[in-house]
Amino acid sequence: SNVPFITLNNGVRMPQLGFGVWQIPDDEAQVAVRNALDAGYRSIDTAAIYGNEEGTGKGLAASGVARDELFITTKLQNGDQGYDSALRAFDTSLTKLGLEYVDLYLIHWPLPAVDKYVDSWKAFEKIYAEGRAKAIGLSNFHPAHIQRLLSETSIVPVIDQIELHPQLPQAELRAFNARHEIATEAWSPLGQGKGLLEDPKLAAIAEKHGKSPAQVVLRWHLDLGNVVIPKSVTPSRIKENIDVFDFQLDSEDLAAIDSLGTGVRLGFDPETFNG
Ligand code: NAD
Repeated sequence: SNVPFITLNNGVRMPQLGFGVWQIPDDEAQVAVRNALDAGYRSIDTAAIYGNEEGTGKGLAASGVARDELFITTKLQNGDQGYDSALRAFDTSLTKLGLEYVDLYLIHWPLPAVDKYVDSWKAFEKIYAEGRAKAIGLSNFHPAHIQRLLSETSIVPVIDQIELHPQLPQAELRAFNARHEIATEAWSPLGQGKGLLEDPKLAAIAEKHGKSPAQVVLRWHLDLGNVVIPKSVTPSRIKENIDVFDFQLDSEDLAAIDSLGTGVRLGFDPETFNG
């Protein structure tokens, strides 16, 4: 496929567009992952809390795609934060996925009031040193949480996976990450397919380029430098969401998309969510 790679701060290359599997039941994940791999995706984003690491692993194994062509991300679930529990949780995730290593392991949420992310990160550093995760990173971390890791631990996270879509463009957090050589990955990049994709401004841009609103939104993310992981179980949409490398948005389009920002979140606020 034509998916470009970004180079993470430890030299590992990550496809800029991947496939998210949140809310796909375990017994449907195998087929969904297989459909994504057949469509050309090579990066898959799962998490222990999604309950579909086994189905995801089955889809990877059945595909016959070589391990070194795949980029597999999973995440430490909130209840397993802490040094020893994170090490145990990582072993469980690897077993469920049927893999000897993951490409990227993320702390799913900072849980500031729980205050275990520094210890969890020290476990991540050990997992990384052992080569069982080729890169380690964060999800839903804000600058204060990241600053604390930078001052109390050794390894700079490669990425921060955050809620990011045209309605919540996250300019400040993206700039903070960029200053620290931390890549930004967008979760719910399509705004979960709810109101956003029906916006008439997006429809007009899509029509102008002969593409769909979802494709326009994904192109916007790629132009910003975000890693994106759109989710779908519908084979035609799985194909549509990776078919975004044959058109370019112009400055007028980008300005119209920028005007969609509302600052309203679809998910939890990392400052107040404590699992
Ligand atoms: P998304 O923004 O990818 O939207 C997915 C939904 O949009 C689909 O269920 C479908 O209803 C619709 N859709 C998809 N393709 C479409 C198309 N081409 N045309 C029209 N509608 C379309 O939402 P998401 O699943 O929440 O986010 C993507 C991934 O991000 C998840 O699967 C997961 O891997 C990750 N994620 C991570 C966190 C986190 O806390 N780290 C939180 C949420 C999601």
